[in-house]
Amino acid sequence: MTEKEMFAKLLQLGAEWKITEVKLNMDENRIDIWLGTESWSKWPCAVCGIEQAVHDHAQEQTWRHLDTCQCQTFIHARLPRTDCKTHGVKQILAPWASVRNGFTLMMETRVIDTLKECDITGCSRLNRISWDAAWSVMEKAVKRGLVRKDKRLPAYIGVDEKSFGKRHTYETLVCDLERGTVEFIVDDREQESLEFYYKRFGDKELASVKGVAMDMWDPYIAATRKYIPEAEDKIVFDRYHVTRHVTEAVDKVRRQEHKILADQGEDILKGTKYLWLANEDNIPECRQAEFSKIRRMNLKTARAWAIKESLREFWNYIYPGNALKFWKRWFSWASRSRLKPIIQAARTLKTHIKNILTYFKHRITNATTEGLNSKIQMVKEMACGFRNREHYKIAIYFHCGGLDLYPKQI
Ligand SMILES: [Zn+2]
Repeated sequence: MTEKEMFAKLLQLGAEWKITEVKLNMDENRIDIWLGTESWSKWPCAVCGIEQAVHDHAQEQTWRHLDTCQCQTFIHARLPRTDCKTHGVKQILAPWASVRNGFTLMMETRVIDTLKECDITGCSRLNRISWDAAWSVMEKAVKRGLVRKDKRLPAYIGVDEKSFGKRHTYETLVCDLERGTVEFIVDDREQESLEFYYKRFGDKELASVKGVAMDMWDPYIAATRKYIPEAEDKIVFDRYHVTRHVTEAVDKVRRQEHKILADQGEDILKGTKYLWLANEDNIPECRQAEFSKIRRMNLKTARAWAIKESLREFWNYIYPGNALKFWKRWFSWASRSRLKPIIQAARTLKTHIKNILTYFKHRITNATTEGLNSKIQMVKEMACGFRNREHYKIAIYFHCGGLDLYPKQI
């Protein structure tokens, strides 16, 4: 087998193509392959697809292909042009490339696979391509995925805000809780932000939404009430956000008490912040003895912590009626605690209790899609290198959008 025959097989070229030259440059670890067309070959017009004889050939173009052993491999060809009666002179579409990005389909696919595993810098290093080239593949893959994506409103939606960058800019992320994908990203966390998403759908689709998990955030509540019929029964305040209100109250109690104790020269609460914030099951073994000792001291923080911990039981109820009974007992305990931050948190929850109890009907939370949140977090960390929020959005869609990203052979 000659080298030309070998590369013709490897490149899986049709009979109308031939390899005219192969150059191996071992100093640069590089192989260049030139393709030509057979004189008898016929080509589809790029617009209508009707086959024509070759009219002429366009300027030479180069595509980076997958490496051959340790050598970067480049394909060169002058693509034929047809002269269709209806559409005039048109260059044919290269069967080995999708868009004009200088990569063959196989190389582009390889770059997408690598981008799924690491950040842009890692991808560019592994594939020996520029940062901009890797970025451009990601951008085009997302564009293509969004065009292919069906416009559908998920039955169970999660609405969450994510901060981006240092200047406290926010994005609203709409997730499909069943598929575990980010469906839509829109700037800011205003009522209009979420309305912008809802407005894309008709009345029938909006009525088909079964549940919307969200934080107790007034703009999202207002937007959902305005667009989703029977929203009162469908809005579910996310249990992790609900718990966070109480956890933050515990932290406030701890800070206040620590200050008072420290003024008296007592630093018993020093370095204990995360012990009070964690679930009891998550206390590291090496600190369990210390923690159970502080808990037995007559501290306000320990009382606040006990109230917070007992609320965890609330979520285990099966029937809403029993959950409501538990809630009433918990609320009365919290209200009589004489701990101001805890009383305030309990009151906040009370004003929203109706849509906290909807959890027992729909059982959705924004963490339903646990894997999704960690993926978003990963993109946020990678996003430090991104120049703007548009880049951040593209990366979220790429990693979390569940999109069909790959180029297809024409
Ligand atoms: Zn044509």
